[in-house]
Amino acid sequence: MANYYLGVDMGGTLIKIAIVDSKANIIEEDFIDTDITAKPKDVIKNITEVFKKFKNYSKVNSIGFGIAGDINFKDGIVRYSPNIPKWNKVPLKKEIEQITNKPVFIDNDANTAAIGAYWLDIKATVDNMICVTLGTGVGGGIIINKKLFRGNNGTAGEIGHITIEPNGRKCNCGNNGCAETYIGAKHIVKETVDLLNSSNKSKYILNLANDNIKQITPKILAQAAKKGDFIAKQVWNNAGKKLGILLADIINFFNPDAIVLCGGISNAGNLIITPAKEEIKKRAFKTSAKSCKIVVSKYTSKLGVVGAAMLVKSL
Ligand SMILES: [Zn+2]
Repeated sequence: MANYYLGVDMGGTLIKIAIVDSKANIIEEDFIDTDITAKPKDVIKNITEVFKKFKNYSKVNSIGFGIAGDINFKDGIVRYSPNIPKWNKVPLKKEIEQITNKPVFIDNDANTAAIGAYWLDIKATVDNMICVTLGTGVGGGIIINKKLFRGNNGTAGEIGHITIEPNGRKCNCGNNGCAETYIGAKHIVKETVDLLNSSNKSKYILNLANDNIKQITPKILAQAAKKGDFIAKQVWNNAGKKLGILLADIINFFNPDAIVLCGGISNAGNLIITPAKEEIKKRAFKTSAKSCKIVVSKYTSKLGVVGAAMLVKSL
């Protein structure tokens, strides 16, 4: 009988659910909207109703669950989730196991994204990999000897909060100069607005944003830069250099086989990767930099759900 695994990726707006095979190929998938006002018990019930609709559900060996927030991996408890405030101290593992009679594993979404990238982008062909999630926030996941590394209490891989400027921008975490304050989406957009306010060199970005600075997104910035917009190019170049500093630190510290970049900001592709690679060349040990593959994920929207399903394989 085939070995199948079920994954759930719970985001603030959407809950993605999929069954994958032992090579992480999606066999069946579905999704439901996230009801952030509903009681966790009711949400869990709705999710398990979707399981039963899958044709291959009876062949599922285990269930994995990824969710943003502070997760107690060992006991399977969601301590706190920033996007879904009602999910406070939810014994998720126990509740799903009671309904399904299958083993359940839960972890935070940065770790499930890393496992997803390991299987989908790297095809599980290397031993050591770092995944860097570049979105509103900047997160990371660490794979050592094909297994997820969680650290002492599950917070390993907080790559976005590595200091790259000692007296730099103030970060939500309380520190100054965290990588996230230079390569996180919110900060990239803010830098653009500041440059637009102090310069009259570009109006292309504003055209794409309907003349409303509140509508500027990383996607618009990438479009503008590809058209040769001066400010957009400058913003990506700055962000790319900062990303390169961070990646050079990671390469020197960890000597990984590969680094996978995923999340919305990674869609800017060479706009951010080219300056990052130049910076890596300047800063990282040559042997480690040469042997480290830098990959932009092709599967950003599927990493969470596939990684959740494959969680059981990286224990
Ligand atoms: Zn920080």
